[in-house]
Amino acid sequence: MKKHNFYAGPSILPRFTIEETAKALHDFAGTGLSLMEISHRSKEFVAVMDDAQNLFKELLQIPSGYHVLFLGGGASTQFAMVPYNLMKKKSAYLNTGAWASKALKEAKNFGEMVEVASSKEATFNYIPKDYEIPTDADYFHITTNNTIYGTEIKEDMDINIPLVADMSSDIFSRPIDISKYTVIYGGAQKNLAPAGVTFVIVKEDALGKVDRVIPAMLDYRTHIDKESMFNTPPCVPVYAALQTLKWLKNNGGIEAMHKINIEKAGILYDEMDRNKLFKGTVVNAEDRSLMNITFVMNDEYKELDKDFLDFVSSKGMVGLKGHRSVGGFRASTYNALPKESVKALIAVMKEFESKN
Ligand SMILES: *Cc1c(COP(=O)(O)O)cnc(C)c1O
Repeated sequence: MKKHNFYAGPSILPRFTIEETAKALHDFAGTGLSLMEISHRSKEFVAVMDDAQNLFKELLQIPSGYHVLFLGGGASTQFAMVPYNLMKKKSAYLNTGAWASKALKEAKNFGEMVEVASSKEATFNYIPKDYEIPTDADYFHITTNNTIYGTEIKEDMDINIPLVADMSSDIFSRPIDISKYTVIYGGAQKNLAPAGVTFVIVKEDALGKVDRVIPAMLDYRTHIDKESMFNTPPCVPVYAALQTLKWLKNNGGIEAMHKINIEKAGILYDEMDRNKLFKGTVVNAEDRSLMNITFVMNDEYKELDKDFLDFVSSKGMVGLKGHRSVGGFRASTYNALPKESVKALIAVMKEFESKN
């Protein structure tokens, strides 16, 4: 049976990425060696790293003055690396979910952290809009897409202090104006590559302003100087990321992805709103994520929760169970998820409605 993969992360990747990476695991770049058993200093792997950085910059139209890094440690290590490198005394955070909460908690270890607003009291089902960012903060941190709660900040903000964004689950889903950000980071395992590599886009002139001693591995400048080769990079995930970037380019780049993402999310939100069994968990339409679509059973059908999950899995659909903090269902519609999978889910929602 054909599988439809709605997992939130690790999650669906382009077939191209999986096939090309599988080939390289057997014979990498004609070396007769596996990608797993070749030096990261070999000219073949150095070329992969260079290509990945260049294509990353090209697709996102990253202006000069910024560097792209491929590191280990996950987005969670960035929660600490950001304040380590950027926070002199004070930082500001917008609390839009569990990941944002973890990020701001880490910042408290480095000085004064101002939580400008939070939607925690409403299980993070909206993006707070009314808040003031302290002008003397060293940076303002946002989580653009809240993977668990299905909310997204879809516009690049104009603010007067450096802007830092966790874009783990929406990088490459829409065009972004990089010049508005000082740091953008994310785990690759949502929309780019298998788990193990973390991308960081960092503006060089923001660095070197803190007084503290930064351990070499946690200092962005180390990785800029050594082009992400200070220590052994996660070679296989970096290779896979390069394949996804090539796939993106061959499929029209980010503008094209964005268009399809709007279509995919649009038809699913429409069905969720129309179908008598379901309702969305996100209050305001403008806050609804294009990447993680969260919904629950309407109150009068609550007891059908498990039946629906059994029903979708009988149809080959995986990863639709909502995060335990929200319950219900979550359909992740990352770049690699074909529109047919969304249509298949909609058909199953209709079929389940007619049965109940
Ligand atoms: C998954 C996720 C993280 C955590 O990433 P790790 O790579 O597991 O540390 C952080 N932020 C967001 C928005 C995520 O979706």
